[in-house]
Amino acid sequence: MFDHRITLASLALFCRTRLSLFKTFLVFLSVLTAVWIIGLIGTSQASADSQATQTSSGHGSQNPIDADSALKNLREGNARFVAEKSINPHQSKEILTKLSKEGQKPIAAILSCADSRVPPEKIFDLGFGDLFVIRAAGAVPGVDQVGSLEYAVAHLGVPLIVVLSHTGCGAIEAAVTEAKEEGALKELLTKLSPVAQAVKNIDAAKRLRTAAELSAVIFKDQLPLISPTLDKAVKEGHLKIISGTYDLETGVATLDTDKDSGSQSTPK
Ligand SMILES: [Zn+2]
Repeated sequence: MFDHRITLASLALFCRTRLSLFKTFLVFLSVLTAVWIIGLIGTSQASADSQATQTSSGHGSQNPIDADSALKNLREGNARFVAEKSINPHQSKEILTKLSKEGQKPIAAILSCADSRVPPEKIFDLGFGDLFVIRAAGAVPGVDQVGSLEYAVAHLGVPLIVVLSHTGCGAIEAAVTEAKEEGALKELLTKLSPVAQAVKNIDAAKRLRTAAELSAVIFKDQLPLISPTLDKAVKEGHLKIISGTYDLETGVATLDTDKDSGSQSTPK
């Protein structure tokens, strides 16, 4: 006789087995998807990191990148920032671990104003370990700033220094309008007096912008005169020093060779 109890029990067992297999399959599928997503994120971050700082090959100096490649990276990063397409490279925990173990090899040193609206890593769309940033109001090269630049060049092999001024700079305006200040701030503003002198006869409407652009050029020219270390590095071909001005309103950083010989030109 056909035993219905056995058939039902077999059917129940069969269903449980199939259900269990289905659950296992679902878990397997979830794990596979998770691995794929993690891989995708990793690849995307690695691609962003690689895109942010493309190094040149065959360079014999301490730093794996040369001045022209560093400048190219800065221009490309600023273009991404202006287009609101920043990739925010070199921000991962993995990068922090790598940098803590291997040390830093920043591609450029930036002497910029302390103004909260001018953060170099943001405006050049770079991250940890990319830029050696020295800041002071008006981007003035005081003794501590110059000493820091010397460290970046002599010990980290930085191939490029950018003196970066900006529009709407309070320190430059204070110097140009001969504002009365006290103490260390008064001392700082005296470093901007050559700039104030140079723009005295310029049309008032253009005076502050011209002063901003000129300050970076004047300080760029001063650096090798103030510092034998920087002068030697320039003369030996290890270092290029350029000026630039950041526009607060547009986010565009105009690096000195942009104006006279096109955006893809190499620094002088
Ligand atoms: Zn400023």
